[in-house]
Amino acid sequence: MVLQPLTPDDLAARLLDEQAKARKMEIIFGVWWRHYAVPYEFAHTLYAERSSCPYCGGALGPFYLPAEGSQPSFIGRAQIDHMDPLSLGGEESIRNAVYVCDACNMAKGRRMFTAWLDRLNDPHKSFARQLYVAKHGHEPEAFQRARKQSRLTLPRRELLFDESVLRQLFPTPIVSGPPERRR
Ligand SMILES: [Zn+2]
Repeated sequence: MVLQPLTPDDLAARLLDEQAKARKMEIIFGVWWRHYAVPYEFAHTLYAERSSCPYCGGALGPFYLPAEGSQPSFIGRAQIDHMDPLSLGGEESIRNAVYVCDACNMAKGRRMFTAWLDRLNDPHKSFARQLYVAKHGHEPEAFQRARKQSRLTLPRRELLFDESVLRQLFPTPIVSGPPERRR
């Protein structure tokens, strides 16, 4: 597979695409759209959040694009981490996803986020907590384990429509809250 580095212009264009996708999701899912925004659909947005691992401060390295296909990835050093692990019922959404270095991702494993924080040292420990609160809207202690959620899929066909069409199709959001969690 041939890999091309992501140029600043490419990144800017792809961020605009993802911002347009976000506005459409907001029409369909209302204020809860971030709960339904799966990480792989917003890879550039997540990438643009920071250039270093939030858990150790290490550089994440360059971002590459496969020559064919649209899924970008880092080479080697960075992986998506679900702050609340998927296996414990953590959400498959951009609220719960960050790029981290592979060493931290492996060390964190399936730990509860609170247990992971106990293993970090300041300043990364307090930064990771702040990041969690900023993305989730609550302290990590408030997370309650649940059964693993079935993976959400976006309404792909609808996302192809213009925003004006979507506003007519979805005058009100199709959900009344975050995805349901089963205990
Ligand atoms: Zn790290």
